[in-house]
Amino acid sequence: MDEIIFDNGGGDGDIQNLQAQELKTRLQDLQNKNDLLTKEINQLKRENSQLKRPPLFVASVIEVLENGETYLRQQGNNQEYITHTLDELHDELKPGMKVAVNNSLSIVRIIGTTFDARVRIMELDESPDVTFGQVGGLREQIEEVREAVEYPLTRPEIFARLGVEPPKGILLFGPPGTGKTLIAKAVANNAHARFIRMSGSELVHKFIGEGAQMVRELFTLARQKAPSIVFIDEIDAIGSMRTHDGTSGSAEVQRTLMQLLAEMDGFDNRGDVRIMAATNRVDMLDPALLRPGRFDRIVEIPLPDVDSRLEIFKIHASPLKMEDVDLTELVRLTENSTGAEIQAICREAGMIAVRNEADAVKRDDFIAGVRKVKHLTSTEDRMFL
Ligand code: ATP
Repeated sequence: MDEIIFDNGGGDGDIQNLQAQELKTRLQDLQNKNDLLTKEINQLKRENSQLKRPPLFVASVIEVLENGETYLRQQGNNQEYITHTLDELHDELKPGMKVAVNNSLSIVRIIGTTFDARVRIMELDESPDVTFGQVGGLREQIEEVREAVEYPLTRPEIFARLGVEPPKGILLFGPPGTGKTLIAKAVANNAHARFIRMSGSELVHKFIGEGAQMVRELFTLARQKAPSIVFIDEIDAIGSMRTHDGTSGSAEVQRTLMQLLAEMDGFDNRGDVRIMAATNRVDMLDPALLRPGRFDRIVEIPLPDVDSRLEIFKIHASPLKMEDVDLTELVRLTENSTGAEIQAICREAGMIAVRNEADAVKRDDFIAGVRKVKHLTSTEDRMFL
């Protein structure tokens, strides 16, 4: 606090007036400072009490009942209960909405509707821009996918003329990052179809209690947007044998799988909605999914061989300005790498060149990229020296 000194010396009236004026100004300044500090204290108090508030739970509205009551299902533990709601909130509630619920299970506010959830979990690409030219290798696999997914959409008359039923669903399996999604998008592009992607693991982990409903909505959206390709990534999360252990979580996953099977059974093989799925673990899938009339064409998407790796390097290195880079050397150094890793190596090499403000991306940048992406140990590293 500033010290205020009163001058009691016998100065004339003007001096005293000036001193009084100065003291007033200083007093005003101090009052202003005091106001600011009080505001800051209040703000901190508010933040503090916010931090101390218990977290809210998320629940879904199952039914809006009479007399201001609502039937809810809590997310996470699937507990169902009926709670009383304030009139103004009760009027706005609709089945399917998500709400925040406090410790005493009263609804505090509306978070969103199921439609918001649907938008978050389903990725709709009206016109995917991936072409087959952007896929390195995988010629035979691409042809198999085109036969099963693209031609029934673009040349249905051939199938009808010959009386051939195209496969109902096609399952791509192989290690992560080998181009499964890429192929599905390229096929959708070629067939001028919408691409609708849903992740099985997101469905299971984020939409507990709503899995079957989400699957229903996925297929409704696919029909609305036809011609369309439904792509269920990580299908093992809903279609794995391991989940049948009788727990409530597994019962929920089982319901989601049942809904998926029912949706597939209700589809016309020659219709304009095609169904694709991808997994890294085909051995774990429930045989019900692989029966004829379900995912009846299974295509393996393997790690790229030498020729495919060269093609993938060419695709991802083509936009880069390079100097003294021998892509065949990089192909040799990237055995067992996926397409996604090769893309990451090219990106990393480019970033190193940017950091060095270089004129071009050089061999050493790529080698550093390989080291980083492959997390090489010092022993493995010797092969580069
Ligand atoms: P996940 O199982 O993790 O979903 P995925 O097999 O679907 O993986 P993609 O998403 O298709 O993998 O691949 C990731 C990225 O890696 C692609 O966007 C692409 O840039 C690159 N990539 C992967 N495979 C290839 C390939 N064969 N040719 C060119 N690029 C590839």
